[in-house]
Amino acid sequence: MRALCRAIDWGATPLGPVAGWSQSLRTTVAILLGSRNPMFLFWGPELIQVYNDAYRPSLGLGGPAGRHPRALGMRGREFWTDIWDAIGPQIEQVLTTGEATWHEDQYLPIERDGRLDDVWWTYSYGPVRDDDGSIAGVLVVCQETTQRMRAERERSRLLEDIARARLRAECILDQIADEHMVMDAQFRILTVNRAAEQALGTSRDELIGRTHWEAFPASAGTEVERRYREVAASRTEAHFTHHYVGEGRDRYLEIDAYPTDEGGVALFWREVSDRVHAEHALRESETRYRTLFESMDEGFCVIEVLFADDGTPNDYRFLDMNPAFVAHTGLHDAVGRRMRELAPNHEQHWFDTYGHVARTGEAIRFEAGAQALKRWYDVYAFRIGRAEDCRVAVLFKDVSAARAAAAERERLLGALAVERARLAEVFRQAPTFLAVLRGPDHVFELANDAFYRIVGHRELVGKPIAEAMPEVREQGFVTLLDRVVETGEPYVGRDVPIRLQRVPGAPPEQRFVDFVYQPLIESDGTVSGVAAHGSDVTEQVAARLEIERLLADSESARAEAEAANRVKAEFLTTMSHELRTPLNAIGGYTELLEMEIRGPLTSAQRQDLERIRHSQRHLLGLINEVLNFAKLETGSVDFEIDDVPVALALAAAEGLVSPQAQARGLSLTVGDCGPLTARADAEKLRQILVNLLSNAVKFTKPGGRITVSCAAADGRAVIHVQDTGIGIPADKLSVVFDPFVQVRSDYARPHEGTGLGLAISRDLARAMGGDITVESTPGAGSRFTLTLPT
Ligand code: ADP
Repeated sequence: MRALCRAIDWGATPLGPVAGWSQSLRTTVAILLGSRNPMFLFWGPELIQVYNDAYRPSLGLGGPAGRHPRALGMRGREFWTDIWDAIGPQIEQVLTTGEATWHEDQYLPIERDGRLDDVWWTYSYGPVRDDDGSIAGVLVVCQETTQRMRAERERSRLLEDIARARLRAECILDQIADEHMVMDAQFRILTVNRAAEQALGTSRDELIGRTHWEAFPASAGTEVERRYREVAASRTEAHFTHHYVGEGRDRYLEIDAYPTDEGGVALFWREVSDRVHAEHALRESETRYRTLFESMDEGFCVIEVLFADDGTPNDYRFLDMNPAFVAHTGLHDAVGRRMRELAPNHEQHWFDTYGHVARTGEAIRFEAGAQALKRWYDVYAFRIGRAEDCRVAVLFKDVSAARAAAAERERLLGALAVERARLAEVFRQAPTFLAVLRGPDHVFELANDAFYRIVGHRELVGKPIAEAMPEVREQGFVTLLDRVVETGEPYVGRDVPIRLQRVPGAPPEQRFVDFVYQPLIESDGTVSGVAAHGSDVTEQVAARLEIERLLADSESARAEAEAANRVKAEFLTTMSHELRTPLNAIGGYTELLEMEIRGPLTSAQRQDLERIRHSQRHLLGLINEVLNFAKLETGSVDFEIDDVPVALALAAAEGLVSPQAQARGLSLTVGDCGPLTARADAEKLRQILVNLLSNAVKFTKPGGRITVSCAAADGRAVIHVQDTGIGIPADKLSVVFDPFVQVRSDYARPHEGTGLGLAISRDLARAMGGDITVESTPGAGSRFTLTLPT
C-alpha cells in the first residue's frame, strides 16, 4: 500500500500533491500505513480514502472488477454506495461532534468479488484533527468479524435445534405409555415422563434432583439397585422383570435400563402384574387341563382352522392332542401338520363344520364318518381362545364299532323280517312242492301250492298221510317216512315214479318226482316230524327219454352233415378256380393293353382300362374273402400255432396299411409291445390286424388318429386298435361281426368291402382261442380289442 500511495497521482485528487499535505494528514497516513491493524482514513470534506495492507482483505481479492485498488484516493460517498445509508450518518456524526463512535459486530453486507457478502465488522470511527485543530478526517480502525459471527450464529442455531429436539423428545416421552426416567451418573433423577409421574403418584418437581435411592428408599439394596449400577458401570443395557410386594399383592415391573452418554441410566418400565398373574393362572389351569385330557379315554385335540382366499375353510392344522388321539384316529405325529396332508380325502363337511365353529364360536356336537380314516366319530367341538386365532378344541370318540354293530343289528333285523316274509311267500309259491308232516302218524301240518298241484286238490292239513293220500301207502312212501323219523337220516329220491289220485274217481296218474324227506330235529335231538320237498320231474324224465331216443338217430345225421360240408368245400374250391380264372384273364389282358402292346392308348382309353383293373381287383378281393369265410365255416382252414411276437405281427400289418393311412391323412401310431408273444398262426394274426387297421383307416375321416397298443393281461395278449373315426351306433355293435353286415352311413360308401372282414377276423381269433370285441362312441371313434392266448 505504501508503494501504491507513492505511485498514485494525488494531484488528480482533491487532496492535491503530497508536498501540499498538512502535517497532520502526513502523520496520520504514515501511522496508518505502518500499522498491522486494519485501518482506513476518510480525509477532507470530500472524504478521500486511504487504507493499509491489513485492511485490503476486507475489500476482496482485487483485480479489475474488485474494489481494491480502486478505493485508494476515491471519494467515500462514491465508493461505499452500497452501505452509505448506514455509515454516512455515523461519519457525519464524528465530523460534527468530534467524538469517536464504537460499533460492535455491525452487520454491513457489501459487494465484493462479484457477489453480495454477509459481512460483520467491529470498528471505531475516530476524529482526526488538522494542523489548525479542526476536524479534517475520520480514522476507521476496524476488525472484520464475519467468521466469528457466522460460527456464533451456527452455534445458536444448533443450540436451538437441540432445545427443540429435547422438547420434542420430552413431548414424545410424555405421550408414551411406558414409564420413563433418566438418571445421571450419581443416580440423580434428571427427567421423569408423565406416565411415570402418574404411576409413582409423585410430581416430577418432587423427583427431579433427588437420587433414586432417596426418592424410592425401598429400592435401595435390592436387585434393582444392583442392576442399575451394573448398567452404569458396564455401559450395557439390561432388561428384567422386578418382583415386589405392593399393596398386599405380588407385583411385577418389566424394566428396560439403558446407559446414557453421560454415564447415567435411562429407564423405561411398565407394570405387568396383571399379565404375569394371568400367565400364572393360565399355566396352572393348563397343567390341570393337561393332566385331565392326558388321562382321558376320549380323543382330544386343538386345531387351527385354515381358510382359503375366498374364505371357505379348506384345511386345519393340529396344534395339540392327547395320547388317546392316536388310538382314535390312527394318525401319528400329527402335531403341526395339516389334515389334508395326513388324509387328503378327508370330507369337506369336516372343514365346513370346524370353520363354522371357529367363525361363530358356537359349540357343536355331531356324529359323522371319516372315510379317509375309515371310522365313525361322535364329536364335540368348541372354539377356544380369541376368535381371530380360529382355534377349535375337538373332543371325540371313535364310535365305528358301536355304530357298525348297531347298523349290523338293524340290517339283520330288517333282513330277518324280509327273509321271514319272503320265506313264507317262497314256501307258499315255491315251484318245488313242500309239506311238513308231524308225529309218528305223519299228520299234515302244512303244504304249499305246488304240493296241492301235484297231489290234486284235496284236504290235507290235520290228517295223517295214510288217510289223506291212501294211494301212496302201498307204494312204500309211508314206510320211508317211518324210517326217516326213526333214524333221523334224510331220504333223497330221484326220478321216483309215483301214482297219484289227482282227481277223485279218475284212474291214478303216473308222475315222476325228485324229493327229499328231511327229518325235523328238535333241540333235544328228537325227531318231531318230516319236511317233504321236491319237484315234479315228469316232463324232464319224458324229455330225457325222448333225447335218448333221438341220440340214437343223430349219429347218422352227423355223418350226413359232414358229407354235405365236404361237398360244399369241394364246390367252393371249384368255384374259386372257375371264378378266378376268367378274372385273372381279365386282369392279364387289361395289363397287356395298358402296356400298349396292342398299340398306343388315348387317355380316355387308359382311364377306362384303369377302371376295369380296379373292378377286376375288387371283384377278385371279394371272391377271395367269400371263399375264405366259406372255408372257415366248413372248418377246412389249417392253423399253424406258434409263439408269435406281437410286435412283429403289428409291424407287418402296419407296413401294409400305412400307405393307405398316409394317403388319407391319418396318423397311425403303434405302441411299444415289448417282448409280448401270442399263441397264434402268424399269417392269420396278420390278416386280422390288417383287417382291423384297414377298417380304422376306412372309417376315419382325414386328420384323424389311429392308435395301436398292446398289453398282457390275465395270461392273454391284448391288442387295441383305436380310431377317432365315425364310430358305430350302440345298436349295431353286436351285429358288425355278423357276416355281410355293413352299417349304413353317409360317410362310408356301401360298396366298399363285403361286410365279411370282421366276421372272418373274429372266426380266426376264436379258432385260435381268442376273441375280438368292440367299444365305440358314434362320432368319437371305435376301439377294437383282439385277445389271444399267450
Ligand atoms: P367291411 O369293412 O368289409 O364293410 P367288416 O366286417 O370289416 O366289413 O365291417 C363291418 C362293418 O362294421 C363296416 O361296414 C362298418 O360299418 C363297421 N365298422 C367296422 N370297423 C369300423 C370302424 N373302425 N369304425 C366304424 N365302423 C366300423
